[in-house]
Amino acid sequence: MVAIGVPAEDKDEPRIGLTPETVKKLVKAGASVTLRSGAGLRSHFPDAEYAAAGAKIAASDADAVADADIVLTVRRPSAELASKMKKGAALIGMLDPFSDAEGLDALAKSGVALFAMELMPRISRAQSMDVLSSQSNLAGYKAVVDAAAAFERALPMMMTAAGTVPAARVFVMGVGVAGLQAIATARRLGAIVSATDVRPAVKEQVASLGAKFIAVEDEEFKQAETSGGYAKEMSDAYKQKQAALVAEHVKNQDIVITTALIPGRPAPKLISKAMIESMRPGSIIVDLAVERGGNAELAKPGETVNHNGVRIMGKLNLPGSVPVNASSLYARNLQAFVEPLIDKEKKTLAINFDDELVKGTLIGRDGRIVNAMIAERLGGKVSAAAPAKAAANGDGKKSGGAKRQTKGAKS
Ligand code: NAD
Repeated sequence: MVAIGVPAEDKDEPRIGLTPETVKKLVKAGASVTLRSGAGLRSHFPDAEYAAAGAKIAASDADAVADADIVLTVRRPSAELASKMKKGAALIGMLDPFSDAEGLDALAKSGVALFAMELMPRISRAQSMDVLSSQSNLAGYKAVVDAAAAFERALPMMMTAAGTVPAARVFVMGVGVAGLQAIATARRLGAIVSATDVRPAVKEQVASLGAKFIAVEDEEFKQAETSGGYAKEMSDAYKQKQAALVAEHVKNQDIVITTALIPGRPAPKLISKAMIESMRPGSIIVDLAVERGGNAELAKPGETVNHNGVRIMGKLNLPGSVPVNASSLYARNLQAFVEPLIDKEKKTLAINFDDELVKGTLIGRDGRIVNAMIAERLGGKVSAAAPAKAAANGDGKKSGGAKRQTKGAKS
């Protein structure tokens, strides 16, 4: 029997990587599951529901992980907790692979195999395991809902006997998974929505959601998408043209949601202080890229900055503010990844280290980091050849040679 353990997350993380629904499925697949008591409570999953689904409840984190072959987490756990795990066991979670390389090294030294779900190759087979998509989708939704709640006007147009309430104008910058859902959500709330991106493929998606596409569509724009489907860093000349276009547009917007990211690089600066000063007091900017340096000049992680009456919201962990859905989707992502690691007949852990998804996500094994990018940050070389290639494919973020499929916002 393969033993799966789930410790509690720390106080800043309301999500959990296991739900009663996925306990049932994992038990059916041949696993036993042990969960730290109360670990699902902030996502409103009580111990009794886990127990009814077949999980054992442990009194401490150490008890939850001590006998586990696989430990499931949301965030990177402490090296101390990893030291309580069996050597060779698998630790699977959003391990934040490209920050604090020393911390990851300490985790690897405990001898557990480290799998970073953020590095899942974006190929068809792995769509159900794509944690970036499942979580970004909710972040895009919540950004609009938060902005609407803070905005002191209505979003839809209302025609009343006392006069007409005009529709609010919402501008979405960066139309990946989060941006598409932000557009869809703002449209449902009745706003007039526009959006921008540097990837031409986005133009049609924006139109299909009923929003207006705004972009500098020059020759560089036509080449802005990498073969992996991500944005490239644009030239200074393009950035200037883009800034001039955005400056004209932004001053007439009520709410701006920014989600623009470039894999392996700081978030592009798209909203300058001057642009913020051109907006009407009462306007709102939600900067979803704030954890990667921010798209808006005055954005601060975890804070709302009020500049001349324009609020710039830099909330952290937006998926964590919809924890019930975020946990449910994340737990399904994990279950989809874990099930193939179990030999259904022998009911033993059987990780195929040649599998593309395993290679893509594996960052530490046998006491050392095996991912080339992380090892480079540590100033060292990677000795294990196969697993190292995956994350260092030039995109800087994902691996997998197969072409990605574009996935729109779910409405
Ligand atoms: P992301 O989080 O890397 O970036 C968000 C958006 O910001 C992207 O659309 C990007 O083009 C845009 N951006 C970057 N620089 C910009 C700039 N200067 N100005 C304006 N916008 C800028 O993106 P993501 O959400 O991870 O999505 C990337 C791609 O992957 C999309 O094509 C998406 O549909 C696709 N995708 C595929 C799968 C799959 O097949 N499994 C899953 C999810 C996403």
